[in-house]
This record gives sequence, C-alpha cells and structure tokens, in this order.
Amino acid sequence: MADHPIDTPPRAPSPIHRFGTLAVHAGSPHDPTTGAVIEPISLSTTFAQTAVGKPVGQYEYSRSSNPNRVNFEKAVAALEHAKYALAFASGSATTAIILQSLAAGSHVVSVSDVYGGTHRYFTQVAKAHGVKVTFTPEIEVDIRDHITPETKLVWIETPSNPTLRLVDIRAVASQAHEHGIVVIVDNTFLSPYIQNPLDHGADIVVHSVTKYINGHSDVVMGVAAFNSDVMKERLSFLQNAIGAIPSAFDSWLAHRGLKTLHLRAREATTNATAVAKALEGSPHVISVNYPGLGSHPHRAIALKQHRNGMGGGMLSFRIKGGHAAAERFCQTTSLFTLAESLGGIESLIEVPSSMTHAGIPKEQREAVGVFDDLVRVSCGIEDAEDLKADVLQALEKAVVASKITNKFATNGNGHA
Ligand SMILES: *Cc1c(COP(=O)(O)O)cnc(C)c1O
Repeated sequence: MADHPIDTPPRAPSPIHRFGTLAVHAGSPHDPTTGAVIEPISLSTTFAQTAVGKPVGQYEYSRSSNPNRVNFEKAVAALEHAKYALAFASGSATTAIILQSLAAGSHVVSVSDVYGGTHRYFTQVAKAHGVKVTFTPEIEVDIRDHITPETKLVWIETPSNPTLRLVDIRAVASQAHEHGIVVIVDNTFLSPYIQNPLDHGADIVVHSVTKYINGHSDVVMGVAAFNSDVMKERLSFLQNAIGAIPSAFDSWLAHRGLKTLHLRAREATTNATAVAKALEGSPHVISVNYPGLGSHPHRAIALKQHRNGMGGGMLSFRIKGGHAAAERFCQTTSLFTLAESLGGIESLIEVPSSMTHAGIPKEQREAVGVFDDLVRVSCGIEDAEDLKADVLQALEKAVVASKITNKFATNGNGHA
C-alpha cells in the first residue's frame, strides 16, 4: 500500500475489518481537494496531461478507467476477498467478456439451471466464437465425465435460478483444478455478504450488480472479482477493448447501494425465512425451495458455504391449482409487485415458466424443476409480518378461485 499513496485514502480499511466496515469504507476516500466525505461524480470523459503521455493523475480516458468505477471496483474486491474487481455495463456483459476471453475451440461445462440470459449467451452467442458449452444438472457428480482436453471453464450458479439448488463449490473446484480448469461462480442471488465463492476455491466470482449489490432497482451493471494477475491483465484489456463499461453515474449509484448491502441482505433473509415458513405451513402449497429451511435438500451446503447458514432473500414455491393459480397469485398480492428482477429493497414476484424462463423449452425447464405452477419470490426489506400476511391472503384467493374456475371448466368433473 505504501508505494501507492494516491490509492490509499486516509481512512482505508485494512483486511482485518469486517464486512460492514469494508462496505462503508472500502474504495471511499475523502475527496483530496475539497474534503468531500462522499466522492464526487466524475463525469469528465478525458483527463488533462502535463506533458505528452504524462496525465496529472492515474486517469486518461474514462472508458479505460475513471474514478467512480475504480472506487466501486475496489469496494467489491474488498467484499469478495479478491485482489481485483472489474465492473461492466451489465451482468450479461460480464458473462460475455469472460466467454470472449477464451480461445476459439474452447469448451465450457455449466450447471443446467443458469440464469436465462446466461443460457441464451451460452447456446446462441458463444457458438459463433467457436466456444462449446455442455450443461449438466449434477455437476459435483459427473464433472469428470464432461471434461475434455479443450475444457477451459466451469460455470456454476449457486443458488440456482429459480429453483434455489445449491452447488458445493469446493467439491467442483478441486476436481476442475486437477485439470487446470478455471471455476466461475455467479453469486448474484446471495451477494458477497452471504457467500464468498473465492474462499471456497472458485477462481472468478461474478455478479449482476443490478440485483443485491446496487439493491435499489435503478442501475443495470455487472462485476467480476478474482485474484490472478494474468486474469487482471486479460480481462481489463477486454474491458477497455470491448468497451461494455458502466457510466460514472451508475458506478457511483451502485457504490452507494453497496454501502448498505449487509443491512439489506440480513433483512431480506429474515423476511424470506418468515415467508418460506408460512408457505411451507400452507395447505395451498406443494413445495417450497428455500436454502434457509431445514427441509432444503442441500441445507448442509448452505451451512458450510453461506454466512451463518443464511438463506438469502430469494425463494420459489409450487402452488396448488397449476399455472392459473400461479398467475392469479401474482396478481393478488398487494405488497409484492409482479415484475422480473430481484434483490431490490422492494419485494417482487413472478412466474418463471412464462416470464424469466419462457425462452427455455418446456421439457428442459421441467427437468430442472421449473414447472408451470412455480412462483419465484424476491423478498425486499419491508416488514416480515406484512409480507407474510400478504402471501397468505393471496394464496387463499388464488387457490380457492382456481378451484372454482376449474370446476366450471370441467362441468364439475374434477381436474382441468
Ligand atoms: C440478472 C442476472 C444476470 C444478468 O445480469 P444483467 O445485469 O441483467 O445483465 C446474471 N445472472 C443472474 C443470476 C441474474 O439474476
């Protein structure tokens, strides 16, 4: 640190500090000229040079690097226990740049139930660059069967979207590393407060900053964090060369959001736990997917990988009464808004089979548990009791109403 005086704010947190302290202070120097406690938004696209090739500070042109993006990147690196972080225009741009860093002819092994946009990139874009992706639903079990001499990358999403299945990162990483394969974890659903994949053997952790890190549903952005100097060289070259970068304003907003991540993630977990328990106790629900529940099939992984075994703010459940009941449920809640996305302060609800995951063929969807009656819930930071009451009243209305409708539809003969 001593040889980078410009980078070192007077109040720089040290690695011994805990999450909340790092969230508030990492990458947050006081403005050296005015003393402003909060960094100014630096909108300038270019930076003066005192002689040819001698910029005043560390910046030259803002696609290559700018103060707000660098400060945000430092903060994410600190929270993910990484040496480096690089921010991009979206979570999807982050995925694209990592895939584009691979040589043509490379092979990727991915878990089956990845984010819909990641699935779309893997199946419809990567191919054009000569990169092939194999999907597997049980990556810990059969990763060795899928590895070829061309395999360069393993892609994990844990928890998965929208069924909240967990992957044992350490188990996959130790097998992948025997073959020199890089392991990436999409940590969007938990945020760095609940899970730090690099501590479990992953090489790169990626986030859609759009979700928990920004947390206020007003910025689209992505980030990747890692420790390797070689990766830093390669990925920052592509960050500049491709130019899929976030604006200074978005970087500033996302950094502001990140400062309260620990408070929001804790509250969202409290709320999701209350809602999951209420759903599990309801006669109108077939099953609940929430890694914070004792009934979750991968609860042991949550206890090992998540901070204090926390389940995060996301859950999904199957409602009785089929797709019609699922739709009606989402239109009957008053606090949960029917909308895509997740990880914001406000609670959201959606039906993956016809919204976020509509692009995946039905058989493939159902093979990984995304049935037509599955409802995905993102718990915000409202009061738990209010969210619980809203879910319970909507269940009554949706399931009872769909029973009546089904009766009419089948002349009282039973199932529609
Ligand atoms: C939203 C999301 C992405 C894509 O991020 P964008 O910022 O929307 O491009 C990737 N992975 C997961 C798990 C997501 O939820």
